[in-house]
Parts: sequence; structure tokens; C-alpha cells
Amino acid sequence: MLQAYRFALDPTPAQVRALASHCGAARKAFNEGLAHVKRCLDQRAAERSYGMPDERLTEVPWTLAALRRWWNASKDDLAPWWRENSKEAYSSGLDALARGLAAWSGSRSGKRRGPKAGFPRFRSRRRARVSCRFTTGAIRVDDRSHVVLPRIGRVKTHESAAGLLDSVTAGSARILAATVRFDGRRWYCAFTVDAGREPGRPAHVAADRVHPVVGVDLGVRDLLVAAAPDGTEVARMPAPRPLAKAQARLRAVQRKAARQDGPDRRTGGRGSKRWARTAARIGRIHARAAGLRRDALHQATTRLAQRHQVVVVENLNVAGMSRRKPGAGRGGRALNRAIADAAPGEVRRQLGYKTAWYGSQLTVADRWYPSSKTCSACGTVKAKLALADRQYQCDSCGAVLDRDLNAAINLARLSEHAPRVEGRPAGSGPVAGRGAIRKTTPPTGAAAGGDETSTPHSGQQAAGQTGTAPPQGEAA
Ligand SMILES: [Zn+2]
Repeated sequence: MLQAYRFALDPTPAQVRALASHCGAARKAFNEGLAHVKRCLDQRAAERSYGMPDERLTEVPWTLAALRRWWNASKDDLAPWWRENSKEAYSSGLDALARGLAAWSGSRSGKRRGPKAGFPRFRSRRRARVSCRFTTGAIRVDDRSHVVLPRIGRVKTHESAAGLLDSVTAGSARILAATVRFDGRRWYCAFTVDAGREPGRPAHVAADRVHPVVGVDLGVRDLLVAAAPDGTEVARMPAPRPLAKAQARLRAVQRKAARQDGPDRRTGGRGSKRWARTAARIGRIHARAAGLRRDALHQATTRLAQRHQVVVVENLNVAGMSRRKPGAGRGGRALNRAIADAAPGEVRRQLGYKTAWYGSQLTVADRWYPSSKTCSACGTVKAKLALADRQYQCDSCGAVLDRDLNAAINLARLSEHAPRVEGRPAGSGPVAGRGAIRKTTPPTGAAAGGDETSTPHSGQQAAGQTGTAPPQGEAA
């Protein structure tokens, strides 16, 4: 199975220049390739309008191989400096372009599931993600504090690489590729690793046999709350303190940036140097906050995926939630991007692959399921629930409980009904079926329940058979 190992780097100034140059080269190849594809498409349209037969129309390089052939023929003109960077850099940009084109045509013909993919757009120097992927050449972990990348050379890691080094030395892991990335604060290197291990729970972790099924709600104040179908709160993960501090500082620095001479869309002003300095600072604080949050989420999701058989999460419209506000400066963009990295979609993504690693299962609730508005005691659905209401108060049965806990309980009870998504990294795919519980222990009691969603399920199903669970009706 594929796993990723990511390390913060401590590159020398010369290495920083080389890293930035490679990422710029990837972007250059992407943009030049896209411009060429657009020219070819225009040419084809014109030729067709003259009535030229289809087989004689200009060919559009659509695949990575075709784009590479075109790039190798034109790179002396387009980028005479191409020798400065590894060829992997250009290949990385062209690969991204080929994927974008494939996603667009797949989306248009209906072969691709998930949200509609638009035609690839040019990558701006200011906005685009600064990254580059290496798939061949010298890619390795040199020792516990150094990695080696093509052309860049031996780079010191900020974090210990001992874990990956040990697996590689023991022969249980093989490095396939490396992606370098700058997040506004630091450079990172992520290795794609083929870790030849079977899915399953690590021996040192005890399974929670009392609560095999949990629902997880992502709170506003707390990062997440997990609950069992019987109403027990299984876990509550508060936001780490340094995160709150970083967020407070972020707000202060953002106010400062607002008072400074920032860029102006109407006049085309680029903003003062002091504004740029503050904006860069915002980017750095933000990257730190995102890192803290991500780390806390990783710990929580690992624990959930290892200890419980079934984890139920909400299906949120993540794309809509993390859309950036117009008018945000450079730092603002980095900020919103980093928030998106650690947003609810991230929790679902992490649970998706971690449940696959540890042999448990992720269930995603229907998008319109009102987990927060439903009373977990009597099943009444409230018409309105303000985000500020920390307590859930039921108007019909009078139950009062924590808002996030209430939602988590409702989600846990969904596990028999919700469509199943298993080990799907992006979480955007098709659902495999219904009635997805493959645990033999029924949830203990339905004490607080009484509504139909908390009916204990039958214990007949064999464990360990993924994808073959019969529909719920047959199992019962
Ligand atoms: Zn109620």
C-alpha cells in the first residue's frame, strides 16, 4: 500500500534557490504546455470550419508522453535556460497539465465522477501552489537527518527521518517519488512510499470493543467530538492551545496589514514594502497554525481509525466552505489555502485512508442528513439551529445536551444506513453499497434512543469481507 512521509526541510540558501527554480520551471512548463494546447484547439476549430476532414486536423498533445515530445522539441526556444533544472521539473508541470486535461475531458464525457472539472487554467506566480515532483533519479533518505533529491542534492531535514530510513533499510518500504513544496513558511519534502504491509490494526493498539461504532462531529470550539450510538461520548479533542494563540496573533497582524498601504485592484498598485512584509508574516503565522491543527487532527484520526471498527462522518460541502473571500491579499490567500488543508474535508480524507490502513471502515453520511438539528433522544428535527447555540435543546422532549455530542450520536446511529466509502483518499468517489457494518458485535443497547436509526443490527455478517456486505435488509 502507498504511504506518504513528509519532512520539513532546512535547506541552505543555495538549495532554496534551486528548489524555487525547480518549482518555477514546473509552472513554466505547465503554462507553456497549456498555451500550446489552446493554440492547437483553436487551430482545429478553424480547420473544421473550412470543412477539413477529421483525420487531417491538427493534433493536440493531450497525454504526458505527447506533451513531453512537444516540450523537448520546443524547450530551446521557450526556456533556453532549461538545463539549469532537472528534467523532472518540466515533466512535473506537464504531468499536472495532462491530468488536468484528462479530468476535464473525463468530466465532460461523464466518465469522471465527482464535481465537474473545468478546463485547466494558467498558473499564476502569486497564486499557484509552489511545488514540484520528482519520480526518477537520485531520490533517497541518506541518513536520519538528510534526504537526497535530483539536482538539489543532499538537503538537511528539520525533522528526523529515522522512521522512514529504518523501513527502507529493513526493505519493508520503497521510495517511489518525492514532492517538494513551499507553504509560505517552510520547504517540505513528501515521499511517496510503497510500504509492503497488509491493512490491519497495529499490535500495540487495543480495539475499543465496547464502542465499535462511533460518529464524529467536527466542532467549532473543539476540533472533534466522537460518540457511540448509545449516547456515550467516546472522545473529545479540544483545539490545541498554541493554535488558539497563533490564531489570536494572526488576527492582530491582519489588522495591521489592513492599516497599511496594500495592493489596489482599481489603480493596479502593488502595495508598499511594509505591507508585503506584513503579508509574508501573515503567511508564516498561518502556516504554523495550519501545521498545529493538522498535527492535532492526525493524532485524533489515527486513534479513531485504529480503535473503532466503523467511523461515521458528515458529508460536508468542503469546496463551498473554504472558498476564499475576495480582496484578501497574498497572505490572505495563503491563509485560506492553509485553512482548506486542515478543514473538515481533511478529517474525512485522513479517516478515509487510515481506516483502509487499519482495517476499519469509514461511513459518510448523506449530504443532507441533519445531524446537528436532529434530537438524539426523540428524533425530532429542529427547523433552525444557530451556530452560536452550544447546547442542543429539544422543544418536544426537553432533552438538553452538548451540540457537538448530539450531532456525533446521530451520526453514529447512521452507520447501518449511510452509503459506504472505503479507503478513498479524496472521498469524492462512488459509494460501494449499503448496510456497511462488518462488525459482529451489536452496539451496546440503544438506551437514549428509541427511534428507528438506533435499532441494533444483526450479528450474522462475517467480519473482514470488505465490499461484499449484503444490503441491510438481507442481513437482518
Ligand atoms: Zn427530543
